[in-house]
Parts: sequence; C-alpha cells; structure tokens
Amino acid sequence: MSFEFSDEVRAIQDMAAKFAQKEILPTVAQAEKNHEFQRDLVRKMGELGFYGCPLPEEYGGSGLGFLAHAVVTEEISKVSGSLRAPFNMQTMGTAREIYQYGNEAQKKKYIPRILSAELLGCIGITEPNAGSDVGAIKTKAFKKGDFYILTGSKNWITYAQVADVGILYAYTNPAVRYKGLSAFIVEMKWAGIKTGPSAEKLGWNACPTGEIFFEDVQVPAENLLGEEGRGFEYVMGSLDNTRLTAAAGAVGVSQGLIDEAVNYAKAREQFGKPIGQYQMVQEELARMIVETEAARLLTYRCGWQKDKGVRNTLETSMAKYYACDVASRVADGALRILGAYGYSTEYPVERLFRDAKLYQILEGSANIHKMIIANDALGYRKANR
Ligand SMILES: Cc1cc2nc3c(=O)[nH]c(=O)nc-3n(C[C@H](O)[C@H](O)[C@H](O)COP(=O)(O)OP(=O)(O)OC[C@H]3O[C@@H](n4cnc5c(N)ncnc54)[C@H](O)[C@@H]3O)c2cc1C
Repeated sequence: MSFEFSDEVRAIQDMAAKFAQKEILPTVAQAEKNHEFQRDLVRKMGELGFYGCPLPEEYGGSGLGFLAHAVVTEEISKVSGSLRAPFNMQTMGTAREIYQYGNEAQKKKYIPRILSAELLGCIGITEPNAGSDVGAIKTKAFKKGDFYILTGSKNWITYAQVADVGILYAYTNPAVRYKGLSAFIVEMKWAGIKTGPSAEKLGWNACPTGEIFFEDVQVPAENLLGEEGRGFEYVMGSLDNTRLTAAAGAVGVSQGLIDEAVNYAKAREQFGKPIGQYQMVQEELARMIVETEAARLLTYRCGWQKDKGVRNTLETSMAKYYACDVASRVADGALRILGAYGYSTEYPVERLFRDAKLYQILEGSANIHKMIIANDALGYRKANR
C-alpha cells in the first residue's frame, strides 16, 4: 500500500474494523432478514466519532479528513451496506453540506447533533420523475413572508421515515431551471410532511428507504441553505463528497467478498484437493484482488486530493465508477467460487452480492460517471472547472 496513514487514521481504522467484527457482524444477517433498522448501532458509531472525520473539531468532528472518512467507511461496508449508509446520511450529504454552504447559526445548530447521530439526517434529491436528471425535480418552494411554502414529493430517500432533519432540494424559481433550484434544511417533524416506505428492495433491508410528501410545509426562511438559486451548485458539490463515500463503500464490500471467497477456496475440497489449488479459481481470485486494489487506490487518491483542497470532480467520478463496477464483478466472482453455498443464506456472500449491486445505481449511475469522464477527455465539458 503506497498511502501512509497517520497514527490517528490508523487508530480509527482499527477501531472501525473491530466495531464491524464485534458489534455489526453478529447481528447483521438477522437485521437484514427482519428489515430491522439498527438505530442503536448508528448512534454508537456517531458517539465513537466515525462520522466526524471530514469536519472540524469546533462542530463536533475530528478533522482527520476525507481519506480517514474513506477508510472508516470501507471497514464498516465490509460487513454491512445498510450501516454504510449513515456515512452519507450523517456526514457527507448533511453535516458536510451544511458546513460547506450554511451560515454559522445553521452549522452550530445542526452539525454536532447530526455527527453524533442524536439527529438522523436524510438527503432529498430524487423524485418519481427525477433520477439521474436532477433538473427534472418538481418540488417547489415559494417565499411567503418569513417562510418558504414547500410542496411536492421525493422518492427513494434513505432514512426518509426515521430522519429528524433533511437537506431537501426544491425550485424557488422553476422558470430559470438550474439557476432556480435551492436547498433547505428541513426538520422532518414540521406540519405537512408525511413519509412512507419506497418499494421493497433487493438488499440493504436494514436501511429504511422511503417517500416524502410535502403539503404546504412552512419552512422558516432562516432554513434556506446558502443562497436562493444556488441549489444546483450545492447538490453537485455535495455529490462530489457522497461519491467518495460510495466508492469507499464499494471497496469495502469487494474486500468482504474476497475474504469470504479466499476462506472458502481454502476449505472446500473437490476432486481430492482444495478448490483454491485450481488455476481457474486462482485466476478469478487474482482478478478480484487486483481490481479491488486498483479501486482502493483510486478511492484513496480521491480522499487525499480532497484533503489537499484540490477540486477533483473528474477523479471522484473515476473512483466512484470504477469501484462500484468492480464491486459487482467481484460479487459475481465470489458467488461462482462458493457455488451453491454462495447462492444460499448460509454464507454472507449472497447478502454482500445484493449490497454490491446498489453501488452501480447510487450517487450517479455508472453511465453518468462514464459521461463525465468521456466529456472531460473530449473537451466537451471539463469536470474540474
Ligand atoms: C436504495 C436506494 C437508496 C437511495 N437513496 C437516495 C437518497 O438518500 N437520496 C436521494 O436523493 N436519492 C436516493 N436514491 C435514488 C438514486 O440516487 C437514484 O436511483 C439514482 O440517481 C438513479 O436514478 P434512477 O434510479 O431514477 O435511474 P434513471 O435516472 O431513470 O436511470 C436509469 C438508467 O438509465 C441510464 N441513464 C439515465 N440518463 C442517462 C443518460 N443521459 N445517458 C446514458 N444513460 C442514462 C442510467 O445510467 C440507468 O442505467 C436511492 C436509490 C436507492 C435504490
């Protein structure tokens, strides 16, 4: 490994790895089966400081940085996708976004309580007809006196039903499209907000995903995030961070799958010897390992650049696209190596396989990232402007 971690980063990485093994692993299969949201574990990780790496101490963070955030996320994701989610809900999509674009009062009021997971966060971009095309959002917020009146709906929102506070995007001036989008810090208990579950999912079942309906919700004007009309810039800035978390999560699940496949290949015997001794199994494993290591290096570079304050939308897309595609290929390889047992619930591979598939969809699909990378190369649209 070419990246040198400081003693502090190594210590929190170690702490996260132990937490994943001791606290998450024994409960994860049951929680996924029962669709049980593990609120206590989300809170514990907040109290241990896992969410606070890329935020300064004055707001309850540790200031350890983005690379540290990536390595902690990776350790948790090796064991559970559902418990990887709060690294965006509590950190990148909420606390870090308020830190980047909010005013002092908003930072003091919300960031420390979100980082400790006393408050649960959510990020509301997606709507029934607005997925990859963020500009197609229909939710609106019109100014009326000291309030904005919010109407519309969101779908596929992680933590919708359990969140206390969300960063929600709405048009304050739909006539000017992207320049009319704004961001709001919304408290989910406010009158006029209703939530319900989204459709059943393939995986991540211990992580609630839901719809949010806004019916004439009065949002105090002081809860506008940053400036009116700059929501598109903020959502892209926030995605630049949440995509690092997704890449790190994908590296984590790939590693979890490799660990399972290696153990199995050593133990399972066919034709009189361990299947790990067959060249074709070795070839599969070697590809899984090298691709994961390449994904890890792209992800760590992405975190390292962010720690240096370098604008790296292009490199973030590379890390997100590659790590997330690799996770699906590694999942496929692990399933082949475990054969029938990989397809069964007796081993965690089938669950990790389902965890892995989500990474190709979230935080910009693979196609969206390929577009960003190719458009940059072709000079049509430079990513790091
Ligand atoms: C479990 C889960 C949790 C989620 N959590 C959140 C959340 O917390 N907050 C939130 O806001 N959203 C959330 N989402 C939504 C997620 O961000 C969207 O699913 C994602 O943006 C993709 O949108 P879509 O699913 O509507 O796909 P679509 O945009 O409809 O895309 C479908 C397919 O078409 C392709 N495609 C679309 N446009 C193009 C194009 N121009 N060129 C080439 N190909 C294209 C895509 O790559 C994809 O393969 C979540 C989704 C899931 C499944």
